[in-house]
Amino acid sequence: MNNINSSKIPNTPINQLNPELQEKLTNGYPPFIDIHTHIFNYKDIPDYYLGFRLPISRRFLGFVGFFLHNLIFWTKKDYLSRAAYLIKVLKKKNSSDIFDSMKKTYYSEYDNSILFGVLTMDMLKGIDGTQDTRTLRDQLFLISKLAKKNNNIISFAAIDPTRNAEALRIFEEVFSINDNDSDLNYVGLKVYPSLGYLPTHPILMKMFEVCEAKQIPVLSHCSSALTRNSNDSIKNIPGIFINDISLEGEAPKDFKTGGSHKQCEKDYRDYFNRPHHWLKVLETFPNLRLNLAHFGGNKAWEDFIDKNESIDIQTIPENKKKPWVATIIYLLKKYPNVYADFSYTFVEEKFSIRLKELMLNDTELTNKILFGSDYSMVVIEGDYKKKLNNFKSIMQPNLINQMARNNNLKYLFNL
Ligand SMILES: [Zn+2]
Repeated sequence: MNNINSSKIPNTPINQLNPELQEKLTNGYPPFIDIHTHIFNYKDIPDYYLGFRLPISRRFLGFVGFFLHNLIFWTKKDYLSRAAYLIKVLKKKNSSDIFDSMKKTYYSEYDNSILFGVLTMDMLKGIDGTQDTRTLRDQLFLISKLAKKNNNIISFAAIDPTRNAEALRIFEEVFSINDNDSDLNYVGLKVYPSLGYLPTHPILMKMFEVCEAKQIPVLSHCSSALTRNSNDSIKNIPGIFINDISLEGEAPKDFKTGGSHKQCEKDYRDYFNRPHHWLKVLETFPNLRLNLAHFGGNKAWEDFIDKNESIDIQTIPENKKKPWVATIIYLLKKYPNVYADFSYTFVEEKFSIRLKELMLNDTELTNKILFGSDYSMVVIEGDYKKKLNNFKSIMQPNLINQMARNNNLKYLFNL
């Protein structure tokens, strides 16, 4: 099988940034970084994105957004109605408009010192209805261009490993430096398991080997499966499934779901997004720079708080239940370069209050939690600006600065 030629990939990803930004990061007070944002628009999403069929066109989305928002406003908490907030963002003409509006609305438009981790998405293999969608390469080129123009974007390339040999070629292309205009200068790799692959997929393992050697930061979605593969079953899934009982697991090679939106969300989450798979990845690549994004997400934090789940990490390797939050804390403490961002999960006040307690009581964790927002996905939760400000006021400037400045910079560039 193909391998990755890593001879042109720099030994540290900071070399992907322009010299001015490199200088700024290495000398002086670390800038504020939002590690987790998305600026993709309707051109990047297949019809079955959001779990139901939408003929995606800008005009149609405008109509759907209006309909969901105004005609069923009395069920504002309803999933469809909340999706209208997101649709309003997705129907913007291009990604740079979304980026500008995010900066202007939620951060001061004049504060150009803020940096944004921008995560691309590769949904074309896993989700149906992709005939009018922009290709992955076009999306990767576009975000790379935007990053070079703005000089405040840290770009992450999403590559679905089920592309097999093509995935390895794209990996090589986005990270190699040839010192010419075609350089894409991606900093990190984005992984989204519920699109239908395990973190232990052999193609991903080849990528992780290079990521570990070249210090490339990896960011994996680790939460519910709002975005997921659109099939009811997937057969012969490559890689190792890690169950709760042992590291090798009884690998169910086939996945099956069906039924309601809620049921599919749960099944995809429990099969693909579970943090347990990373026990195996990290056993193989213990120095991998990894962000388990969302710290498990809302369901994991509900279990942790409402069911008073244990976070006694001593028991994790043998624990037959392996609770999600405890498993992530175990990984954060065991491996030097593993982190967790609290993006999206911060929308629930009780989760943020509990996170603060954890961080104040355990200095090891204080250094391992990253600040991220998950814009534009998080606008589904309603008044995002209010929720973001509320999170900042709960955590107080000292912890916010620790997460957004010190920890993000350490995760990205080991600075
Ligand atoms: Zn996200």
